[in-house]
Amino acid sequence: MSLRVTQYGESILKEKGAPVTAFDAALRKLSEQMIETMREAEGIGLAAQQIGQAIQLFVMELPSEMDGGHSTYTVDGKCPPLDLIMPLVVVNPVIELSGEDAPYEEGCLSFPNIRGKVERPISVKMDYQDLDGKAHQIICDGLFARVIQHEYDHLQGVLFIDRMRPQVLRMIESKVRRLRRDTRDWLKANKR
Ligand SMILES: [Zn+2]
Repeated sequence: MSLRVTQYGESILKEKGAPVTAFDAALRKLSEQMIETMREAEGIGLAAQQIGQAIQLFVMELPSEMDGGHSTYTVDGKCPPLDLIMPLVVVNPVIELSGEDAPYEEGCLSFPNIRGKVERPISVKMDYQDLDGKAHQIICDGLFARVIQHEYDHLQGVLFIDRMRPQVLRMIESKVRRLRRDTRDWLKANKR
C-alpha cells in the first residue's frame, strides 16, 4: 500500500523527527510502504515527514543508470554494486559534510513540478542504523551525497527551498505560494 505524500504547507514538514528506538516489525512495514510510495511517485528519496510521521527515518533509491557511475561511495569500507545496497533504509542518521559546494537542480515529492538549484557540499560521511538497529557508515559524493543531504534535511524539518539562494527562490516563488494555498484548501476540505 502506498502512502499519501505530504505537501508543502503542511506543518509536519517543518518538524524535527524523533529518534527511532523500536526496531520492530512496524518500522519494517513502514519503510516498505515508504519505498513503494517513493517508487510510485518516481522519486529517488523519501523522508518520514513526507508520509506524515516526524521520526528519524528516510529511504532512498539511486538507480545506477541515473547516477551513471558518477558517485563514488563506500559502505562500511567496502564498495558493493549500487543494485545491492538500493533501496537503502536509513535510521537515525548523523552526517558530516566536506568538500566545496556544488550546484544541482533539485526536486522534491512534497513540491510537485517545482525544481530549483541548490548548492551543497559534494561529500558526506553518514553514520546510521539499519532496520535491525545495526550501525553502518557510508562515505560518498555526487548524487548519492546530495540525496542523503536532502533527506537528512527533511528529518530536521528543513526544506530545499530553505537552502536556495534568494535569486533562485524568486524564480519559483509564485509556484511555491500557489502550492501552499492549494495545500491549505485541501487541508480545510479534508478537515485536517
Ligand atoms: Zn524532499
